[in-house]
Amino acid sequence: MQPYLNTPPKITISYTESCNLDCRICYSVCARQPKQSELSLAEWISFCDYLAANGVIQAYIEGGEPLHRSDFLEFVAYAAKRMMTIVRTNGTLVDRHMARRLKAAGVGRVLVDLMGATAATHEWFTRVPGSFARSCDAIRHLVHAGIRTDVLVILTRQNAPEIADFLRLAHGLGARRVGILRLYPLGRAKPLWPEIALSLDEQMAVIRALEPPAGLDVMQSWHPHDHNCCWQSAAVTADGRSVGCMYLREYVDHGNIRHVPFLDTWFNSPLYRRLRQADVPHACGGCARSQRSNGGCRASAYAFHGRWDAPDPFCPTMNQGVDIRVLPERLLRESSGPEDSAGA
Ligand code: SF4
Ligand code: SF4
Repeated sequence: MQPYLNTPPKITISYTESCNLDCRICYSVCARQPKQSELSLAEWISFCDYLAANGVIQAYIEGGEPLHRSDFLEFVAYAAKRMMTIVRTNGTLVDRHMARRLKAAGVGRVLVDLMGATAATHEWFTRVPGSFARSCDAIRHLVHAGIRTDVLVILTRQNAPEIADFLRLAHGLGARRVGILRLYPLGRAKPLWPEIALSLDEQMAVIRALEPPAGLDVMQSWHPHDHNCCWQSAAVTADGRSVGCMYLREYVDHGNIRHVPFLDTWFNSPLYRRLRQADVPHACGGCARSQRSNGGCRASAYAFHGRWDAPDPFCPTMNQGVDIRVLPERLLRESSGPEDSAGA
């Protein structure tokens, strides 16, 4: 059983589902223009006040590409005065001037996504020539501006052979930390899955072979780092849906903060309450004791098993013979939309 929280300590915000890139694996299926249904700047500011008044201390702001929305800087400067802010970006809109503005706004940390260690791999994913150099430049500018900057990569078949180069690249650009993230079957990644997904053995081989340069920390989201973190997690989509975690956005809908106060979704959604209890009957006992893993990631478990209490197939101990290179048909059907709390 996890600690009982009256409010989440931190929240993820998808500020917009628009972007200047066209990534083949975009989880948000971003468009060039912000959608009409997105929360306005005034709505986000009001929500920020609400979160701060209710004890939320950290906002992790992503997209889409947050900097692609013209009012983002105003929002993040407002938010940074009230809580710790982390911004996840593709970096292509961060020049030297923007890096300084983010620093002046009080942004605490920036995470920049790369899709590989070379322009060829990165731009195969982003489908925008020149985007690799711009993202690399952004990392240099952010580091130079004095912002703690991490570099992220989602592990795929295309970039797996380049992970050692990716670590050297990130280190050379001045990052102190990298994150190697598992691939999730969301958005545009679903139809591309057979082409990009590695088997679990292949993923584990990459993780085991990591040899980061001295001074570079590596975060990675596999066993034994595959915590079930639903117990403290909160996330709101660009159009205001409370979904618990961005990796759950296609599976759940706890209510829209335009119509119900966010904490009502936290307390009153049976599914939200259930996921926060992190009660997975067949979770590995060792992990539950030592790492509070409690069955691993609920989004991956639900994606592959269709059950909230299933074990996470990305964990070698709990995989149960699931070939994670093969997506369930259910996920590929266009009609599969998010569940509301009735799905609990
Ligand atoms: S940079 Fe991010 S938000 Fe933009 S298209 Fe790529 S994955 Fe989507
Ligand atoms: S869905 Fe996975 S990543 Fe998201 S909060 Fe739950 S366990 Fe953590």
